[in-house]
Amino acid sequence: MVSARRATSERIYLSPPDVGPAEREALLSAFDSGWIAPLGPQVDAFERAIALRVGRSDAAATNSGTAALHLALRLLGVGPGDEVWLSTLTFIATATPVTWLGAEPVFMDSEARTWNLDPELLAHALDCAATLGRLPKAVIVVDIYGQCADYDPIVAACQRHGVALVEDAAESLGASYNGRPAGSFGKLALVSFNGNKIATCGGGGMLVGDDPQLIARARWLASQAREDAAHYQHELCGYNYRLSNVLAGIGVAQAARLEELVDRRRANFAHYAAALGDLPGITFMPEPPGHRATRWLTVVLVDHDRFGVGPEQLRLALERAGIESRPLWKPLHLQPLFARNRCIGGPFTEQLFERGLCLPSGSTLRREDQERVIAVIRACHRAANPMVFVPSEACA
Ligand SMILES: *Cc1c(COP(=O)(O)O)cnc(C)c1O
Repeated sequence: MVSARRATSERIYLSPPDVGPAEREALLSAFDSGWIAPLGPQVDAFERAIALRVGRSDAAATNSGTAALHLALRLLGVGPGDEVWLSTLTFIATATPVTWLGAEPVFMDSEARTWNLDPELLAHALDCAATLGRLPKAVIVVDIYGQCADYDPIVAACQRHGVALVEDAAESLGASYNGRPAGSFGKLALVSFNGNKIATCGGGGMLVGDDPQLIARARWLASQAREDAAHYQHELCGYNYRLSNVLAGIGVAQAARLEELVDRRRANFAHYAAALGDLPGITFMPEPPGHRATRWLTVVLVDHDRFGVGPEQLRLALERAGIESRPLWKPLHLQPLFARNRCIGGPFTEQLFERGLCLPSGSTLRREDQERVIAVIRACHRAANPMVFVPSEACA
C-alpha cells in the first residue's frame, strides 16, 4: 500500500533495479540446485537467452560488462603500441580495458542525430590514418543511453580498412537499429547486467559474437587460461572473470522480462517528453528513423538562456525534493585521467555535457513519482520566468 507520506517524501532514484518474485524464485532455485559456482546450468541458460535476444550465435557470461570488454580487446590482439578509437561520450569502463592492455585510447566526438560516434568523422579519420599507416587496432562504438549508433556507415568504414569493431551495448540491450538488435554489431559486443542497467543480475556482463571459437576462447581466458592438464598447467596469463551461477539465475528471469523492462523505460521517456516538451529551452535526446532506443535514461537538454536556469540548478532543485538526477557522462577526453590522450573531432559532446541532465528513468518508476519530477522542473521554470505566460499552465 502506498501511503501519502511515501508518495511525497520517498527518495526517487535514477535507475534502480527492477526485480520481484520471478527473480527471487530463480535465485533460490539456482541456489537449491547446488551449483554455487562460476559455472552451471543457469550460466548456460543465461548465455543462450542473451545470444538469442541479440541475434548472435554465442555468448560468454562474465562478472561485469567491463570484464567482457577486456576479454574482447584481448581476443582482438590489442596490446602495447596500439591505438583503440572509441566514443568519448561514455562511462569510464569503455576506456579502462584499453589502458590495462597497454594500448592508447583515442577519443571520438559524437554526431547530433544519435549522440553516438560520428560515422563521417570516423570514415575520414580512418582514411587519414590509413595513409599514415597508423590505423587503430580496434574501434569501440558505444550505444549511449540505450540508442544504437548509425552502424551501416560505421561498419562499412571499419570493413574498408580491416579494423575490428566492438559494440559497447551495455546500455542498449533491447534496442534496435534498422531491424537489427543492439549487440549484433561488430565482431564482438558486450552487454552489462550491473544493478543500474536495463536488466540486472546484481552485477555481471556478457560477451557476444558469431565465432564459436572466439567465444570459447573468451570463456577460457575468463577461467584463468588453464591448459588441459590435471596439474593446472599455464602458458598464458588469464583472468578470473566468470559469472556466478547463482547470479545467472537472476539474469535468466530478467532476460525473460526484457521487453517489459524496455517498454517501461520508453513509456517514462514518452511521458517526460509529453509533460515537459512545451517548456522553452527544453529538448530531449532524438531518436532518428530506423532506431528504437531503450531509453535507458531519459536525457533532457536544458538551454539556460531560454529556460531560465541551467541543468545544474535543476539537478540541485530535484535533489532538494529528494529526487536523484545526474549530469551526462563527462566526455572522456575531458577526464584528468586522459588529459594527454587525443580526441578526434569537434566539441559536440562538450555541449551535450554542459546542457544535459539524466532524469529518473527506472522501470519501477511510478507515474506519481514521475509527476513529482515533472512538477519540480515546471516549478523551476516558473520561478525563473515570473513574467512569462505559459498557456498550458494558465489552463490547468
Ligand atoms: C555500465 C557500462 C559499462 C560497464 O559495465 P559493468 O557491468 O558495470 O562493468 C560499460 N560501458 C558502458 C557504456 C556502460 O554504461
